[in-house]
Amino acid sequence: MRKKIVAGNWKMNTTVAEGVELAKAVAARSSEVPASVKLIIAPPFTHLVPVGEAIKGTGIGLSAQNCADKEKGAYTGEVAADMLVSAGCGYTILGHSERRQYYGETDAKLVEKVKIATAHGLSPIFCVGENLDEREAGRHFEVVTEQVKNVLYTLSAEDMAKVIIAYEPVWAIGTGKTATAEQAQEIHACIRKVVADKFGDLAGEITILYGGSCKPSNAKELFACPDIDGGLIGGAALKADDFIAIALSF
Ligand code: PEP
Repeated sequence: MRKKIVAGNWKMNTTVAEGVELAKAVAARSSEVPASVKLIIAPPFTHLVPVGEAIKGTGIGLSAQNCADKEKGAYTGEVAADMLVSAGCGYTILGHSERRQYYGETDAKLVEKVKIATAHGLSPIFCVGENLDEREAGRHFEVVTEQVKNVLYTLSAEDMAKVIIAYEPVWAIGTGKTATAEQAQEIHACIRKVVADKFGDLAGEITILYGGSCKPSNAKELFACPDIDGGLIGGAALKADDFIAIALSF
């Protein structure tokens, strides 16, 4: 049985005090969520330690939103994988479309990041997804296939087993437009097939999340699809009640 996951990407939102309050609100309701669903929250770097304290003992996973492509040293402003582990993280988002688009993250850089993260025992939440032009040109399968192959095909099976994939169509992120369940399912099935072509049966074990304006009103339909194993949630993760409602949508 694949793990079901609902992960909240807080992006660059909340002060430390607000973040701790949000984490406590999520923690307070987390026991309502069935044990078969793993909750993960990804606050900003500055919040990781106090948020980690706030969710201690609840089973909620702690994730970073990014991680350096280098081990350590003179890389001002970067945060290394072992620092994330020492701050209590078990996960890190990598390759989010906002990082690809605004910070020039390439597949080549993501290969380094995914390798370093997995080497330190972190599970990458590796994001893929096409932009609007690519979707309108009918290139979405091709784009997502290349993103998966270029980065994840460089991993050993052992490291691939740690990866969570998030399909996030860029045109649906923060726009209020959601992929239909049918659009999402066909891409998720494609991603699983691409993983299977390289890693065989392991593909059946890999959690593939949907992200892009997922909210309590549409989560049920999305999560009912056979290849959608949960969600990576942006805006709706900033409200504890919405985040929990999404996690109760399986
Ligand atoms: C995201 O950026 O990971 C995301 C899914 O955002 P939103 O839910 O706000 O579209």
